[in-house]
Amino acid sequence: MSGTDTPGRCAGGGDGTRAVRAGLPEPVKHEPTLPGPVFAAHFHLPGDPTGPYTYGRDENPTWTLLERAVGELEAPGQDGTETLVFASGMAAISSVLFSQLRAGDTVVLPSDGYQVLPLVRAQLEAYGIEVRTAPTGGNAQLGVLDGAKLLWIESPSNPGLDVCDIRGLVEAAHTRGALVAVDNTLATPLGQRPLELGADFSVASGTKQLTGHGDLLLGYVTGRDAATMTAVRRWRKIVGAIPGPMEAWLAHRSISTLHLRVDRQNASALALAEALRERPEVTGLRYPGLPDDPSHKIASQQMRRFGCVVSFTLPTRARADRFLDALRLVDDATSFGGVRSTAERRGRWGGDAVPEGFVRLSVGAEDPEDLVADVLRALEESAD
Ligand SMILES: *Cc1c(COP(=O)(O)O)cnc(C)c1O
Repeated sequence: MSGTDTPGRCAGGGDGTRAVRAGLPEPVKHEPTLPGPVFAAHFHLPGDPTGPYTYGRDENPTWTLLERAVGELEAPGQDGTETLVFASGMAAISSVLFSQLRAGDTVVLPSDGYQVLPLVRAQLEAYGIEVRTAPTGGNAQLGVLDGAKLLWIESPSNPGLDVCDIRGLVEAAHTRGALVAVDNTLATPLGQRPLELGADFSVASGTKQLTGHGDLLLGYVTGRDAATMTAVRRWRKIVGAIPGPMEAWLAHRSISTLHLRVDRQNASALALAEALRERPEVTGLRYPGLPDDPSHKIASQQMRRFGCVVSFTLPTRARADRFLDALRLVDDATSFGGVRSTAERRGRWGGDAVPEGFVRLSVGAEDPEDLVADVLRALEESAD
């Protein structure tokens, strides 16, 4: 196997067909369909050090297959795109930001994005990069774009689930000569394809619904331009933010059920949101798939699926804590996207601008009736 193998038989047009075959090599007699993880710090390399696999920080055949798989889902049929996998979502995000920006540049970040972005902001500013922020909702980032080198979009945003007009923001950014990266973690590539919406990079944490079992950390960047991706690859090499072969292989195996998981989890998320809408103690309910959600109109124009995360607010911190405690099928845990439902009171971390009773609930692959019944029971039992 080499980095220039022709991709395997991923001919199908449907998401399920694409997911089960994504990144597979051509079948070889007596070999497994998905070759096992290649554990190698270095590769046998006599003579001139050329070819795809030299040293384990630069390349690994298990990453190559996973990178192909993610690329086939993020940008099906788009020639010339490139995908790189990373040790975590933050490794992928940092690699784009720090490889593309120089002292004196300006970057626009979301003010309501992932909770580590404020730390990234402080580091960028320490390197002499100007950072502007604006909320995701209402396309507010448009107002601070002038003179920016890079626009960073997170849509839907985490945890507030606001959505912006990606295509519109990309056009405005490109007109001003700025690159655009979209954090596609919450949507997954089956929910949204940022490159088709014009973005230069789709960046995501593969820790969440992409792999969906809560047992590994992973990140990736898919980009459309070879020169910018060369800089991202160089950054990965410099910082060594690489996934282990075992994690890469587990991720690839998990992607083969992505369509099953997202369809099940996202349909259950809608059912749960509909049930929560009827509850008097629930305010600020957000799910982009709900027809009356403020994000729904723009979400339905650019998303193919609306995610597995529902957020809402209970009257007090104590009520939210009692609710989380009373749940039996939903673990009190952070992160999202796994096959087992999780929820947390987001305010416990500090950092997000959310009310004390704000709950982020990630819907898993349980039977929807069981899950909705458990949530409604926990709401009853936690009442004052
Ligand atoms: C979790 C998350 C990240 C960071 O991913 P890690 O794999 O934890 O490093 C980035 N963006 C979003 C939207 C996330 O939810």
